[in-house]
Amino acid sequence: MQNSEIKTTCSYCGVGCGIIVTNDSKNGVSVTGDKDHPVNRGMLCSKGMNLHYVVNDTSDRILYPEMRWSKSHPMERVSWDTALDRAAAVFSSIIKKHGPDSVGFYISGQCLTEEYYLVNKLVKGFLKTNNIDTNSRLCMSSAVAGYKKTFGEDSVPIAYDDIELADTFLITGANPAWCHPILFRRIEQHKEKNPKTKIIVIDPRRTDSAIAADLHLQIIPGTDIILYHALAKRLIEKGYADNDFIKNHTENFKLYKDLVLSSSLEKASKLCGVPLNDIKLAADIIGKAKGFLSLWAMGLNQSAIGVDKNTALLNLSLLTGHIGKPGSGPFSLTGQPNAMGGREVGGMANLLAVHKELNNPVHRKEVADFWGVEDISEKPGLTATEMFDALESGKMKAIWVICTNPMVSLPDSRRVEKALANAKFVVVQDISHNADTSKFADLLLPAAGWLEKEGTMTNSERRISYLPKGINAPGEALSDVEILTRFAKKMNFTGFNFNSTEDIYKEHCLMTKNTNIDISFLNYNRLKNEGTFQWPVPDYGHPGTPRLFSDKKFYTPSQKAIFNIPTAIENTSEQPNDQFPYILTTGRIRDQWHTMTKTGKVSRLMTHIPSPVLEINPIDAYKASINNGDIVVVTSKNGTVRVKAKVADTIREGVVFLPMHWGKQLENDLNRTNNLTNTLVDPVSKEPDFKFTTVSVAKYVKP
Ligand code: SF4
Repeated sequence: MQNSEIKTTCSYCGVGCGIIVTNDSKNGVSVTGDKDHPVNRGMLCSKGMNLHYVVNDTSDRILYPEMRWSKSHPMERVSWDTALDRAAAVFSSIIKKHGPDSVGFYISGQCLTEEYYLVNKLVKGFLKTNNIDTNSRLCMSSAVAGYKKTFGEDSVPIAYDDIELADTFLITGANPAWCHPILFRRIEQHKEKNPKTKIIVIDPRRTDSAIAADLHLQIIPGTDIILYHALAKRLIEKGYADNDFIKNHTENFKLYKDLVLSSSLEKASKLCGVPLNDIKLAADIIGKAKGFLSLWAMGLNQSAIGVDKNTALLNLSLLTGHIGKPGSGPFSLTGQPNAMGGREVGGMANLLAVHKELNNPVHRKEVADFWGVEDISEKPGLTATEMFDALESGKMKAIWVICTNPMVSLPDSRRVEKALANAKFVVVQDISHNADTSKFADLLLPAAGWLEKEGTMTNSERRISYLPKGINAPGEALSDVEILTRFAKKMNFTGFNFNSTEDIYKEHCLMTKNTNIDISFLNYNRLKNEGTFQWPVPDYGHPGTPRLFSDKKFYTPSQKAIFNIPTAIENTSEQPNDQFPYILTTGRIRDQWHTMTKTGKVSRLMTHIPSPVLEINPIDAYKASINNGDIVVVTSKNGTVRVKAKVADTIREGVVFLPMHWGKQLENDLNRTNNLTNTLVDPVSKEPDFKFTTVSVAKYVKP
C-alpha cells in the first residue's frame, strides 16, 4: 500500500471499532476512527488510537521459520518447505504411534474467521482429533453455555444500537469503562443526553464503570447468583414480573419462582455484603425499566460456577420480559476481536461449525459429509487447560499454538511451563518473538499480523466486518491461512485447494445456509462495498439482523426460553482460610491487552500503569503493616508474585486485585499473576476460575 487509505476494524477487543488506516510511504501507517462506522462513530480508545505503533515497529517480528532438529539443538533458520515438511513428518509419526488424540492445536480469538474455519476443518475433519481449543475458552465459554441452556443456541440477542434505546443498564462482572471503552462511552453519552437513564454496577471493586454508576453493589466475590435471586424475589413480590411473556414464551418458571421466593433478602444482603436497601433499590430500578440491558463479561464467565451465573442473570431478562424488543436484552461482552467468529465456525473442542454440537451424531455426520470426510471423532476434544494437563502427563505429545501466549494467560503458569517443557514437539505460529511461549518452540513459524492479510471478524453484537490487506508482512511471514493450507497439503489432505481467503469464506458461508447464523448470501463484495452486517443475513439484499427474538421464538424445541435452576448457588471455589485469607481477583487494565505482546511495546500505553500493582483495601493493608508503594509478596497454593502494593478503598476488605497482563520472563517471573491462579474450571464450560483464588499477602523483606 503506497500513500493510500483503507477502512478496517480494530484488532483488539470485541467492540469492533471501525478504523481508517493511512499508509504514507515516508511516515508509515497511521490510524483514525471511522466516523461512518456504526460501532464507534469515529471514536477510538487508547489502544485503538495507538495501533499503528504496533504495525510500524517490526523490531521483534519473527521474519523467517526457525527450527531445531532436537531439544538439544539450537534454533536455526530454515525454509518454509523444510519447516512444514518437518511439521508434517513429526505430526504424522506421533499420530501413527500414539493415535490422533496425542496431538492438539491451541488457537486464538484473534484469528480471523477464515483461519478459524480452516484450522477446525484441518484438525476435526482430517487429523481426526477434536483436540482444538481456543483462548476464548478463558473468556466467553460460560456465556456460550448459558445462552444455549436458556435460548437453545449460542445467540447474543442485542445490537449496540439498543444502548441508545435503553433506560436501565445492569453492568455485572465487567468494567467496560476500561475493557470495552467505546461501548461504555456510548452508554455515558446516552446518559448525558438522558439524565434519567440508570446505571447499576455489580463489582467487588469500585471501578471507573462503578464510579459512573447511579448505584454500585460492591459484592463479595462469588455471590452473584444469590444476589440475582434476591433481585428476582423482589421483582416478583413487587409485581414487576412480565407474566404474559413468562406464560407464553418461557418454560420452567414455577420451579424458578419457588426457588427465588424461598430465598431471603436479608440473608442475601449478608452473604453478598450488599446493603439490603441497595438490593431493593436495584430491583425497583430494573422493575420500572422500559428498556433493560444487562452487560457482563469475565466477572461472571471466569468462575467455577460461571454457567450458572450466566443463566441466573439471563433469568432476570426472562422474568421482566426484556428481550427481543428495542433497548432490552442480555448482552455478553466478548473480550477478543473475533471470539464471536470463532463461535460461528465451532472453534472449540466441544463445538462444530455453524453452532452444531460435537456430541450430536447427526451433526457430526452433516459436517463430515460437507467436508467430504468419512467421519468426525465422537470423542470430545480436550479444552484449553485439559490440553496442557495432557501434555504434562505425557498423554498428548505435540501442540501447535497459534497467536496466543499460554505461558502467561493460562492459570497456574508453572504447570503450563512443565507441560510445554514435557511436550515432544511444540509449534508456535505467531507474529513476534515477544511471546513467552515461543521459548519452548521446536518450530517457530512467522505469521502475518493485522493489516498484513485479509479476512473477516465478528464483534460482540454479531457484526461481521471485512478486513482488507493493507501492507505486506515483513520478511518471510505468511498469513495463517497460507501456513495452514501448505501444512494440509504436506499431509496430503484433500479439501484444501483454496485459491484465496475468499474461497474459504465462501465455503464457511455455504455451511451456514438455512441455519440460525445464515450468512450464505453475504459475500466479500457486499462486505467491501456496503460495510458491516449483523448475522443472520438470510437473503440477497437482506440488511442483516440487529436484534434476535423479536418474534419471541427461541431456538429450543418448544420455541420457548428456559428458566434454568443453578446446580450450585453458593460458590464452589476454595474459600479463604487462615493460611490464605484473601480472595484474589484478576482482570484487565485500561491500556493493556492480554499478555502485552503488542501493547507492551507502545511506550504511550505504558504510562497509565507502568508495572503490576496489587490493589488492597486500607484495613487489610493496616492489619498486615503494608503501606502504599511497599513491595509485597502474594502467595497461593500454586506460586508467588512480588509486586508493589496500591492501598486503596476502591476494593472490598478481604479482596485483592492483580492485573492479568504481565508475565514476561523477568525477575524470575515474579510479576506473572497466573503463577497464583487456581486450576479449577466450570464443570460445563471448562472456563477457569480466574476471579477467585485464595492468597496470602505480606510485606516483602529482603533476605
Ligand atoms: Fe479497539 Fe476495543 Fe478500543 Fe474499539 S474499544 S478502539 S475495538 S480496543
